[in-house]
Amino acid sequence: MKKYVIALDEGTTSVRAGVYDVEKGMFIHRAQQDVGQSFPRSGWVEQDANEIYYKSMYVLNDCVQAAGAENVAGIGIANQRETVVFWNRDTGEPVCPAIVWQCRRTGKFCESIEAPMRKKIKEKTGLLPDAYFSASKIKWNLDNIPEARKLMGEGKLCAGTVESFIVFRLTGRFLSDYTNASRTMLFDIKKLCWDKELCEFFGIPLGILPQPVACDGDFGSVRFGGKQIPITGVLGDQQAALFGQACYREGDGKITYGTGLFMLFHTGDKCISSDSGLLTTIAYTLNGKTSYALEGSAFNAGSAVQWLRDGIGLIQTSGESEELACSVSDSGGISFVPAFTGLGAPHWNSEARALLTGISRGTTKAHIVRAVLESIAFSARDLAECMIRDSGICLREIKCDGGASANSFLMQFQADTLGIPVDRPQERESTLLGASLLSAVSLGLLRSDEIETRRVSEKIFKPSPNRKKFDDLYNSYLFAVKRALMTE
Ligand code: ADP
Repeated sequence: MKKYVIALDEGTTSVRAGVYDVEKGMFIHRAQQDVGQSFPRSGWVEQDANEIYYKSMYVLNDCVQAAGAENVAGIGIANQRETVVFWNRDTGEPVCPAIVWQCRRTGKFCESIEAPMRKKIKEKTGLLPDAYFSASKIKWNLDNIPEARKLMGEGKLCAGTVESFIVFRLTGRFLSDYTNASRTMLFDIKKLCWDKELCEFFGIPLGILPQPVACDGDFGSVRFGGKQIPITGVLGDQQAALFGQACYREGDGKITYGTGLFMLFHTGDKCISSDSGLLTTIAYTLNGKTSYALEGSAFNAGSAVQWLRDGIGLIQTSGESEELACSVSDSGGISFVPAFTGLGAPHWNSEARALLTGISRGTTKAHIVRAVLESIAFSARDLAECMIRDSGICLREIKCDGGASANSFLMQFQADTLGIPVDRPQERESTLLGASLLSAVSLGLLRSDEIETRRVSEKIFKPSPNRKKFDDLYNSYLFAVKRALMTE
């Protein structure tokens, strides 16, 4: 009996793979390769799609060797979303650099989209028009890369996101799963198809786009020696983390505390439109059923801790922030707003900048460090309040992952300010786990109602009964946010 699945996580700065033992519910082997980025102009971010592919093959081969191809039932893929790759349908070779999700080169164009079209985009795709999503990046390549236009004329151009390129190179099929398609700003998330009107608006012919399929669709097989291993599950990285955290019921939510902060909140089969600037997105389509999520993100979370460490040298290591924060009983009246690059939902202000308020002669570095950690939890509360307001669904608890979730002070403070438990899992690579579980469920090795049993809590942070104290602190933070928004 084949007992393993292999998951591949196509991250922005690294590709990782893991061999997941479905019976034992654990990874038995992992491999990782860093991936480079280039910044040819201010605000531009590019990657070499071939480097992504060859490093993916390297980690995949490493894992197949460790597991033995005959023991691997299937492969699951999770990936950085929105990034655009153009390649030649005949050769599979990239035509130009991949435009990475962080790239702002199409910012001006997206700002110029007029109100009626903005409304249509939001209604159909659940997204707010922005350079972040794939559509304007595809348009940019078509407008600026002569080779792309030539190939398009010959019917040989493929334009897709990272999973689409990797699947094409591995199996020869030109497909995109619904979660990745839902991040392009071209996909109707209720009808589950490319939207003709939006494609026309961005000047993108349907013929250059992949065929959208469910996350457990037929993605073809990869040959390893004499063995064929099928790809049995594909989804975007944040959705994979949601799945890996066993958030598969309405009201389940997770927060990933990385450089930035990503909150996804499962809304069941309800496709809820947000009035607060959150995104509506597909959580996954599995066994013919589509689940939706509300998504909110804060641009700065762990990056604020990095700033304490590398920017102003208040701490030597990120981990030291916990010790310092715990050395004082409160932030001594200090509030911090982590608006280094503006503020996202629900404030949406790209001009706002970070702010530290309430400094007195008694202020120590421990107070400042504590206020910075508290501000990360408050940004998450901002998002959670939007989610509850927009959906009317009550949040029972939050699952956490990402680098900064290692900080127990932050997780306890998060539970206290949200007033709900925060549950930290033993396996913190939720993305890799999500891709593994999806692949296993799709193969019938695991039932979807068994996913929850695969998630083991390392610690559950219970909220303090003193709600007023934490509401008062949040209100002080909101007051500081108001001041950060007073830009001229
Ligand atoms: P990404 O995937 O976005 O690169 P990671 O999930 O690897 O991010 O998390 C890295 C971030 O987590 C860094 O910004 C770092 O400052 C922060 N971080 C790591 N450990 C801690 C800690 N113990 N306390 C607070 N922040 C931490």
